[in-house]
Amino acid sequence: MLSREQGNDVGSHQNCDTYAWFSQRAWVEIDLEALSHNVQQLRQLISEHTDLMAVVKADAYGHGAVTVAQTALKSGANWLGVATVPEGIELREAGINAPILILGATHTLEQIHAIAHWKLQPTICSPKQALVFSETLGSIDYSSSIPVHIKLDTGMSRLGTNCELAGNFVQLVQSLPHLEIASVYSHLATADSADPTVMHLQHQRYERAIAQIKEIGIEPSYLHLANSAGTLRDQNLHYDMVRVGIAIYGLYPATYLREKIDLRPVLQVKARVTQVKTISEGTGVSYGYQFIAPRELRIAVVGIGYADGVPRNLSNKMQVLVRGKRVEQIGAITMDQLILDITDVPHIQEGEIVTLLGQQGKEKISADEWANQLNTISWEIVCGFKHRLPRVAVM
Ligand SMILES: *Cc1c(COP(=O)(O)O)cnc(C)c1O
Repeated sequence: MLSREQGNDVGSHQNCDTYAWFSQRAWVEIDLEALSHNVQQLRQLISEHTDLMAVVKADAYGHGAVTVAQTALKSGANWLGVATVPEGIELREAGINAPILILGATHTLEQIHAIAHWKLQPTICSPKQALVFSETLGSIDYSSSIPVHIKLDTGMSRLGTNCELAGNFVQLVQSLPHLEIASVYSHLATADSADPTVMHLQHQRYERAIAQIKEIGIEPSYLHLANSAGTLRDQNLHYDMVRVGIAIYGLYPATYLREKIDLRPVLQVKARVTQVKTISEGTGVSYGYQFIAPRELRIAVVGIGYADGVPRNLSNKMQVLVRGKRVEQIGAITMDQLILDITDVPHIQEGEIVTLLGQQGKEKISADEWANQLNTISWEIVCGFKHRLPRVAVM
């Protein structure tokens, strides 16, 4: 683990070589203090009676699932959400005992075995899946029940049973041996949109489904509906738990939600300058000569590329931070390397740190900046960093 000072180093060459991790050409820094801050902020936003699930699927949105889960739990989260069985097992193998909900679908014998063995909690999306679970647990002589979470489709058209059939569905699951209903939940499709119409409609459908379940005499003990955007937007969506992903990583689901809460980005991407040189006017740069030097330029080669998760579509568009200044990336981004125009900061040395995402001094480059340039969302940006980049935790 690094100290904050080391982590925030803007790249003076002298400081670098004392630390073993500097032998890395490129890495992802995870600021655990920022993560903890974000979780605490969210904890303060929700009622003390509402649980906080830290969604750590996809290796905690690229941040490293075990470290993020441990820090989130210490900071006030009490549930974990993953997408797959192996993601859940990874957390259990690391000694994490908190309840873990698998948000994705599971069906096979192997998955059901593993769920029972590792005490993971599955999502049940359909009557057929409920029957498969119950029969499979029966066939392996499973002596008790496993907690299951019923998923209703209120308008996302992804996993879940149509919410209008909620009554029958819940009744079926309740009647099956080896299954114990732990919650009834749904997922919002448009909570980040400024127009709340669809979100309100989904909320109404969810309410109606719960009423239907109660009418047949079943009292679902535990309800949850909100993702990050829903959590930030409306207390009425919080119910018994909120399932928060992007916000714990310090990113806002939408710009207009910035005023609701103070979040700090957790992830930074850094790499080192591997060579500096001067090229003359008219010199082509990188594959395909997508950039031709308009005059004599000082350039720096940096040891990070698209195989590390820097999108090649940012070629000739992105900026990076070095010595606290923004500089332009030039030419095609290659698999393992990219090139910068450092003419305005000509004294940069080989070995210095370049920040691709993150902060140096007053300058910041956010995942949202890349997402806007690429016409995508910050979720995809942070999930895109490959395992070739070591994750280095910073306190
Ligand atoms: C991924 C996911 C979340 C978290 O979404 P964010 O927008 O990142 O907060 C919540 N619930 C479900 C079902 C999910 O799949």
